[in-house]
Amino acid sequence: MLVPHEERFARIVSDYLERPAGDYAELLHRGHVSSPEGEDPEAWRRQIRRQARQDKIRVVTRRDGPRAFAMLNRSVPDERLDELLHHELRRGLELEQLAQGASELGHQSFGWLRSDDEYISACSRCGARIYARLGVQPVKDGEALTDPCP
Ligand SMILES: [Zn+2]
Repeated sequence: MLVPHEERFARIVSDYLERPAGDYAELLHRGHVSSPEGEDPEAWRRQIRRQARQDKIRVVTRRDGPRAFAMLNRSVPDERLDELLHHELRRGLELEQLAQGASELGHQSFGWLRSDDEYISACSRCGARIYARLGVQPVKDGEALTDPCP
């Protein structure tokens, strides 16, 4: 893994350990967020809506198959909402492809830790890492994408 990616990886881990912000904080920070892979989308929606009610914040949530999506209700036009939904779903697919590549090398499935456009993960058996930045200039790096699980 390239040194700048290692540094970002370590930083994202330490930020998470120090401040486990969660999806609701991510929603407040970015204005929209999607449910993590493997999470019950309806339970996730209820949790987001409950937190938003406590804060008297208006949110819109939607379900799309195994995923759910939430965004702050800022009277965004419908076409923009669809665009954001598709953006999030596309990201979900990209992450699934990365996880698929790692699992073909024998690595165990694992969750993603997210910081804005950046995602990190590590094999639960050998610790091989993935660092990814999705967006305009995507970056995909890490031992879990190139080396087999020992
Ligand atoms: Zn592994």
